[in-house]
Amino acid sequence: MSATPSPAPPIGRHAEVVGGGIGGLTAAAALARRGWSVRLHERNEAVRALGSGIYLWSNGLAVLDELGVLDRAISDAHYGPSIQTRTGRGDLLVHVPVNGEGQVKVLTIMRERLISALLHAATSAGVEVVCDSTATGVTPSGRLTFADGSTSEADLVVIADGVGSRLRDSLGLLRRRRPLGQRCARVVVPRQPGLVPDADADSYIEWMSGRRFLLYTPSSKTDAYIALVCPRGDDAAIGDPVPIEEWTKTFPQARNLIEQLGPAPRWDEFEQVELTSWSAGKVAVLGDAAHAQPPYLGQGGGCAMMSALGLAVAVSGDEDLAGQLAAWEQTERPLISHTQRFSFRVGRLNDLPSFPRALLLRALGRSRAFAHARLRAANAVPTGTRAAVRS
Ligand SMILES: Cc1cc2nc3c(=O)[nH]c(=O)nc-3n(C[C@H](O)[C@H](O)[C@H](O)COP(=O)(O)OP(=O)(O)OC[C@H]3O[C@@H](n4cnc5c(N)ncnc54)[C@H](O)[C@@H]3O)c2cc1C
Repeated sequence: MSATPSPAPPIGRHAEVVGGGIGGLTAAAALARRGWSVRLHERNEAVRALGSGIYLWSNGLAVLDELGVLDRAISDAHYGPSIQTRTGRGDLLVHVPVNGEGQVKVLTIMRERLISALLHAATSAGVEVVCDSTATGVTPSGRLTFADGSTSEADLVVIADGVGSRLRDSLGLLRRRRPLGQRCARVVVPRQPGLVPDADADSYIEWMSGRRFLLYTPSSKTDAYIALVCPRGDDAAIGDPVPIEEWTKTFPQARNLIEQLGPAPRWDEFEQVELTSWSAGKVAVLGDAAHAQPPYLGQGGGCAMMSALGLAVAVSGDEDLAGQLAAWEQTERPLISHTQRFSFRVGRLNDLPSFPRALLLRALGRSRAFAHARLRAANAVPTGTRAAVRS
């Protein structure tokens, strides 16, 4: 797979990007490859990823390909044969074959590998990465202020500082930030025989029991990432280390897996974010800061990547920035909103009691229309990304 040659650069345009996560790194790399001078600010002392795996679908893969780092990102990827939903006792509710001939492509990698591939794309395109640099203020005129008192001016400021973005809030762009009442810990364990039944060892498996969920995701040849999800107030289930006995009582079939779990210092809350507008003056907001979604489709990162690439494509023409930012939002937002809404609705299934939910999931599992809609929401490649990939 080859890197796409950069189009003719706009003369002397400078962008400042806040946030060294999936969205910020993608935006920085894509802008730099289009001739922008780019400086990226990360508040931590290094650009780094949370230790867990991540699902990548067609949209994220297309963006990585366009940035020239697809092979680097997926060299150790896992291609599961199916996505399964099971009851707490292990009964199969939904089975979606993937990665075969004519089937949807979805693969999993470790997050460190994704971040390091995106960082490589950025630095090799000339992005200056500044760590230990916390942005504290921004104006629509393109002025950033930092915690050390310094300031910078840019033709474009990209805000990609995550779901809790204070810069976004200071611009008055937030329409809704909705906590979804569920918390999640992510833990990585070495892959080994006996973790799950041999026949399922390569599959992606979600067990559901009451309002607790357990997700098994092989993410490389050697690692599997496990997500534990429960309601916010489920104190018996939340703890560091993972309360093994409690989770084993809920998911007895997954005892071998649960017994491998150790420290779980972070229990993140799922949230949904909607903005009145994705931009204000010279400032564009993207990734979780603009469109955080619950992770039921594994698409928050994919949406961040396609929104970031779409932005770089949109602002690299000759038109005025205001028109370009409006066109970017018009192009990218409908599909990202569709994905967000679909993911939210899938999440609401969690509120149903186990028995009616099992009946509903079995019925939905047999419905081709549901499978199609779910995979379209999780797998679609929108216009902006397609344009970039073709250019
Ligand atoms: C349990 C779970 C599972 C998920 N699984 C998937 C999946 O399988 N596939 C998928 O595509 N997505 C998944 N997601 C979603 C995905 O992780 C996010 O959508 C994605 O990480 C968002 O990237 P981002 O760059 O917008 O924000 P973040 O990853 O939050 O990055 C923001 C960065 O900005 C930095 N920062 C913050 N404030 C400042 C500041 N003031 N100055 C400078 N730097 C700052 C932070 O340190 C951080 O590095 C999952 C999410 C969860 C919670």
